[in-house]
Amino acid sequence: MEVFKRFAETVKDITRDLGEKAKDIGEKARDIGEKALDLGERAGDRARDVAKKSVEFVGVQKLKLELSRYEKEMENNMAALGYLYYKSRQGDVSQQQEMEELYQRTLQLEQDIRQLEEEIQKILPRPPVCPQCQKELPPGGRFCSYCGRQVVEDGPDDPAGA
Ligand SMILES: [Zn+2]
Repeated sequence: MEVFKRFAETVKDITRDLGEKAKDIGEKARDIGEKALDLGERAGDRARDVAKKSVEFVGVQKLKLELSRYEKEMENNMAALGYLYYKSRQGDVSQQQEMEELYQRTLQLEQDIRQLEEEIQKILPRPPVCPQCQKELPPGGRFCSYCGRQVVEDGPDDPAGA
């Protein structure tokens, strides 16, 4: 999973820093925390954006782009949460509040991602289904391949009938 790859890279970076300058670690944790908090502060706006976007019926591509941004943000949050947890296990309790806030905002972010995914699903064109068995119909088929029901009426302008 991409999140854990990113997390592993973050841990690697952190470990290297530890070897070099242990003093910088505190500052680094603050930076990561602050960055994550900045991202989190947009959570409210984001929720509003999601609702607005669904009304405005923007393109699926745009929503997918937005979704990938959220997922990126989620990765950052995960890395920062992991880092803050790691520091707290080492006895650094100065970031407890940041950790809690970041956790809450990540929860919200996860909901936003789910909501956005649902919006995308709503907009995506759905393939027609058989009115009888509700199974997905093959493109251009006249009969349902599951229950055999005729799903396209024979008509005067039916090309297959010509
Ligand atoms: Zn059917």
